Amino acid sequence: MSASNHANAFALPDVDADGRKNLVGLSREELEGELLSLGLEKFRAKQIWHWIYNRGATDFGVMTTLAKPVRERLAEAYMVARPTVVRDLKSTDGTRKWLLRMADGQDVEAVHIPEEDRGTLCVSSQVGCTLTCRFCHTGTQRLVRNLSAAEILAQVMLTRDMLGEWPAPPDGRMLSNIVMMGMGEPLFNYENVAKALKIVMDGDGIAISKRRITLSTSGVVPMMKRCGEELNVNLAVSLHAVTDELRDIIMPINRKYPLAELLDACRNYPGVTNARRITFEYVMLKGINDSPADARALVRLLDGIPAKINLIPFNPWPGSPYERSTDRAIQVFGDLVNAAGYASPVRTTRGDDIMAACGQLKSASLRLTAADRAAMEKVLAEKDAELAV
Ligand code: SAH
Ligand code: SF4
Repeated sequence: MSASNHANAFALPDVDADGRKNLVGLSREELEGELLSLGLEKFRAKQIWHWIYNRGATDFGVMTTLAKPVRERLAEAYMVARPTVVRDLKSTDGTRKWLLRMADGQDVEAVHIPEEDRGTLCVSSQVGCTLTCRFCHTGTQRLVRNLSAAEILAQVMLTRDMLGEWPAPPDGRMLSNIVMMGMGEPLFNYENVAKALKIVMDGDGIAISKRRITLSTSGVVPMMKRCGEELNVNLAVSLHAVTDELRDIIMPINRKYPLAELLDACRNYPGVTNARRITFEYVMLKGINDSPADARALVRLLDGIPAKINLIPFNPWPGSPYERSTDRAIQVFGDLVNAAGYASPVRTTRGDDIMAACGQLKSASLRLTAADRAAMEKVLAEKDAELAV
């Protein structure tokens, strides 16, 4: 079914048609401010927070710790918005991909990967991505914009709804881990990502600890320190090449922040220790970056950085310019890296049959025109200018 058949199905507006404001995505302070503006006591914020983020309530009527007139007052002025699911795809291996349509008609994808006694949600931070890594499907999407904190949180909250985990059980949660590895570059939307993750980590609410959250970046060097200091989540870095020459081509951000600067930022990432290593993601591209010499160079490059290496077999998409490395090449590469003392799990490809695997996420299948690419370059240049300030 074409997603466009549901053009009006999704609404996660900040304000709905009746002028009610969405409370999801407000910080505690902002929530208190809203209550004060209604003439309600500030302490009610704690109770409402608990209902929204611990119990998963979407209806003020069920918030029974609040007096009825208070609930009625809240319902007049506010809502707790949930996205409408435009598509719910289930892979044969249990992986689920949800397509969520935003109020402006843009689609966002979230992917849930269940394991035996835990589960990971792959969360998107942007619609599309301004970066144009050559192996990544998301990077070919025409339209790009940041997601709001509410839109980022919506992915997590909707997953809890789907899994029936309100309130979440202390053990064996199927939504136990979060990876910011969906669509978009999270460090190009840092403010909203940080706001959403702080709410996700809040112990009175969704309560997923920073140790169970991993943020993946393509290497937005100027934002890495702040991310570590403020959020202290696990860091994953999309490395994918061991020379600037190759990385410049397959990940254009490298022209702005080359390998030496990126690795320095990794060395200095706050809180990094042998017990809390940085994950280096390395996509295995046949004949491009997968030789034994590349493996040895990788080991040399990471010398002195507490690191884990995650080898990702390339996930092809229609029209992709590369091929997946052979199993043999991946094995040899992995063995060399292991021999140097790095755990180097090969990421199993999950959800392949529903295009839910790493780097395959992309909602509207539009090919980029030269003009689109020029527009993206412009956005990127503006971003760079902003970061340079
Ligand atoms: N923008 C961030 C996070 C999203 S991508 C980043 O680049 O790190 C999540 C991971 O999937 C990244 O390591 C990305 O490089 C990788 N990836 C992208 N396209 C891929 C593909 N086609 N096959 C395998 N991995 C891919
Ligand atoms: Fe963007 Fe990451 Fe894809 Fe590169 S790999 S285009 S940074 S989402």
